[in-house]
Amino acid sequence: MVKDLKGKKVLIRVDFNVPLNKEHEITDDTRMQKALPTIQQVLSEGASVILMSHLGRPQKKKKEDGSINVEKFSLRHLVKHLSDLLDQEVIFASDTVGPDAFDKALALMPGQVLVLENTRFEKGEKSGDEELGAKLAKLADVFINDAFGAAHRAHASTTTVAKHFEADEKGLGLLMETEINNAKKVLNSPARPFTAILGGAKVSDKIQLIEKLLDFCDNILIGGGMTYTFAKAKHGTIGDSLVELDYLDLARELIEKARERNVDLYLPQDTTIASGFANDAERKVCPTMEIPDGWMGLDVGPEAIETYKKVILESSTVLWNGPLGVFEFENFAKGTFSIAQAVADTTKTGAFTLIGGGDSVSAINKSGLAEDVSFISTGGGALLEFLEGKKLPGIAAVS
Ligand code: AMP
Repeated sequence: MVKDLKGKKVLIRVDFNVPLNKEHEITDDTRMQKALPTIQQVLSEGASVILMSHLGRPQKKKKEDGSINVEKFSLRHLVKHLSDLLDQEVIFASDTVGPDAFDKALALMPGQVLVLENTRFEKGEKSGDEELGAKLAKLADVFINDAFGAAHRAHASTTTVAKHFEADEKGLGLLMETEINNAKKVLNSPARPFTAILGGAKVSDKIQLIEKLLDFCDNILIGGGMTYTFAKAKHGTIGDSLVELDYLDLARELIEKARERNVDLYLPQDTTIASGFANDAERKVCPTMEIPDGWMGLDVGPEAIETYKKVILESSTVLWNGPLGVFEFENFAKGTFSIAQAVADTTKTGAFTLIGGGDSVSAINKSGLAEDVSFISTGGGALLEFLEGKKLPGIAAVS
C-alpha cells in the first residue's frame, strides 16, 4: 500500500456493488466486509478516507423519463451499514464530483470517512472520461484502488483518475494485493496435479480461459451448460440442452489441443436430464452423449460426480469457476454441491483451492462451505481476465 498517509485525504475505489432487495436492504455484504481492512489501515495511519464505488447499472436502467433512478441505485443505502461495520460515523455526499462532494471532501478531518454517490451516475464513468477522472482526483491527495471486481474495467474511477497522482501517491489496496497473490498461486507454477473445474452457462465466455489453462493445468473438468456444446462437437445427441452451434469447431479444437498437450479434458459421462427447464420437471439420468429429444441436460450425473470427486481429491491445486448444473433448482443442484464438498475436502488434505465467479461463489456460500476452501475471489470477470494472462487496467493504472 501507499506509504506516509498521515494527515492525507485518501480516495479509495472500493467495490461496493452489493445486492439490494426492494426495500434497499443489503442482502449480502461480502464485498463491503472485504474492503474493511484497507479502510481501517488508512484510518489507523491518521488519514481521512473518501470512498467511491459503482452500484448496479443506473445508466442502463433509467426511469421512464430518462432520468437516473437515484432512489434505486444510491450508495446512500450502504452508509448506515458501513457505519456499523466501522463503528464510526460515515458522511455521505449526494453527488460524485459535484459541490456536495467537494465541500465535504474539503472539510474532511483525519479519521473521518466520506462516501461519494454512485460513480455510474456520471455519464463519463464507463467511458473512462478524462475530465471526470481529473475531477475525482481533485478530491484527494492519494489514490488507492481496492476494487478487484472492477479492475478489468478501464473506467474513470478505476483507471483515468490514477493518471493525476504521482507514482508514490497511488497504489493497490490490501484486498487487491490478496486477490493478486492468490491468483498468482494458480498462475505461477501451481502445485501439481492442477485441476480446473469449469461450469456455467456458455463455452463462449470461457474460451480464452480454457486455452490458457491448457498451457499449464493437468485436468479440466467440464460441467454446466457448456457440456453440451462439447458433447455435440463430439457427435453426441444432446436433445434440447443448451448449445452454442457457432462454437462446435472451437470446442473440437480445444479437445484436440488438450490431447496434444496431455491435459485430461473431462466431459461428464452421464447427465441428469429434465423434461423442461423447471425444478419440478420430470428427471432421469442418461449418458451425456445420448440425450433424447424433448429432454435437456441440467446437471452432471451421479457417475460423473464420482469421477470428478476422485480427480479433485487427488489434486494439489484446484480452480473452480461456474456451477456444474442449474443449481438454482434444488433438483439439479446435486452436482454443484457435491463438487463444492469435494473442493472443501481436498482443501482439508492440503490442496490450494481458489473459487471465483459470481455463481460458484454463491454456490459455495449456499453449501455452507465458504470457510473450508483456501480463497474465494471477489472478482468474476476480473479474475478470469487475470488468469487469462491479461493486464487489468485497474491494476496497471496504479502499478
Ligand atoms: P455463468 O454465469 O456462465 O457462470 O453461468 C451460470 C449459470 O449457468 C447459472 O445460472 C446456471 O443455472 C447456468 N447453468 C448451469 N448449468 C446449466 C445447464 N446445464 N443448462 C442451462 N444452464 C445452466
